[in-house]
Amino acid sequence: MIPAAFDYAAPTSLEEAISLLQQHGDEAKLLAGGHSLLPLMKLRLAVPSFVVDLGRIPDLAYIREDGNRIAIGAMTTHDALQSSQLLQQRVPLIAQAAGMVGDMQVRNRGTIGGSIAHADPASDLPAVVTALKGEIVARGPNGTRTIPAEDFFQDIWTSVLEPEEVVTEIRVPAADNALQTYEKFRQRSADWAIVGVAVDITRQNGAVSQASVVLTNVGPTPMRATGVEEALQGRPATAETIAAVAARADEGLEPSGELKASREYKLHLTRVLTRRALEAVLLR
Ligand code: FAD
Repeated sequence: MIPAAFDYAAPTSLEEAISLLQQHGDEAKLLAGGHSLLPLMKLRLAVPSFVVDLGRIPDLAYIREDGNRIAIGAMTTHDALQSSQLLQQRVPLIAQAAGMVGDMQVRNRGTIGGSIAHADPASDLPAVVTALKGEIVARGPNGTRTIPAEDFFQDIWTSVLEPEEVVTEIRVPAADNALQTYEKFRQRSADWAIVGVAVDITRQNGAVSQASVVLTNVGPTPMRATGVEEALQGRPATAETIAAVAARADEGLEPSGELKASREYKLHLTRVLTRRALEAVLLR
């Protein structure tokens, strides 16, 4: 449980961090909250010879309005997301889901940038940011690029991020009275999701005009429940509609079974949690 030896640097600017990543290539790893990287290093599943700590770079932790979007700095902790009044009012899905990440210790150290960059399909925020149709801003040697969350996650622990790029910001649309929620099923309160469902819905004249439903931990990336989204479109939200639509939530999914949950149980949870999430935003 002791990591292999590594060199360490704590740069004070993004430029310096990017330059260190360029110098050390695949041997280097960025360190944010350390709550995914350090356990992997202790198990020697990650063996970087150079660790670049983002903790001393100023201005990477913030939550601010930017027109009709909210911009969130990559080093913003889960705890800051959970307690942000701006997010609670204008993007409640992020504040709610961040409050369900791990335990207090994890929320105090873990960051949104680390969670997104790590691209773990069992993590909550990748599905949430995908459901919100958010964007990930990454800076590298060739400048800054903005990647839709929809295109960011490629496979388990794999994203389109280049080794010498740093996630600097996450941007999500803001809305008043948003119909959003996150349903997470876990055995104990601080556990990872066995299955999670992130929902963001817009309703006009009593009917659903836009539905975004994205699932946690039932595939190699955040999985969009397109059958549910299509079936909700233009429909008035009644309990009968929701029950019929939620029954389609597991269409096309091939989740792997795990110690705590078989494949079939995960598919069952997916349908049940989707119904609960839709009821929560549309009926209550
Ligand atoms: P780090 O561990 O520092 O880094 C993770 C990876 O991302 C590394 O590869 C690192 O190089 C890279 N990275 C970090 N920041 C950047 C950046 N800005 N740009 C590019 N690459 C970067 N998560 C959940 O979603 N739900 C849970 O229920 C949950 N439970 C947990 C329980 C425990 C006991 C623990 C230890 C962790 C848990 N987590 C959970 C994970 C937690 O949310 C982590 O904080 C998160 O996954 C990674 O964020 P971090 O800031 O700690 O990143």
